[in-house]
Amino acid sequence: MFNDTTLLAYIDESLPADVMARIEAALRNDESLRQQLGLVISRRDSGVHSVGDIWRRHRLSCPSREDLGSYLLGAMMDDQANYIKFHLEKIGCRFCQSNLDDLSESQHRDAVVARRKKYFQSSVGRLRPEGRG
Ligand SMILES: [Zn+2]
Repeated sequence: MFNDTTLLAYIDESLPADVMARIEAALRNDESLRQQLGLVISRRDSGVHSVGDIWRRHRLSCPSREDLGSYLLGAMMDDQANYIKFHLEKIGCRFCQSNLDDLSESQHRDAVVARRKKYFQSSVGRLRPEGRG
């Protein structure tokens, strides 16, 4: 019903409120889910689920960096954009949020760099250092 990743997110309270409530309700009625949660907690506490594991698994449901880029530019179908909006705002995915921040910075940087490049191309291009002496 709920997989381990979801239960881990539940422990960390990083799920949308309605999902948190659904899991709580399910835990009340479902003995096997309680056992599953117990296992998840003990495995987590013994370090089997490293933070890296959690992110790697979690990221499977994250939009790609390309998608985030299109989202940022507003060049995206509504369905997809709504999903990403949900992912960022409701799920509050910190990974995607920082990715998005980074992308928005680098898009800005790219624009600046592109202008500079155009300007300096002729002179700076020839001064590039050689790989080895
Ligand atoms: Zn994400």
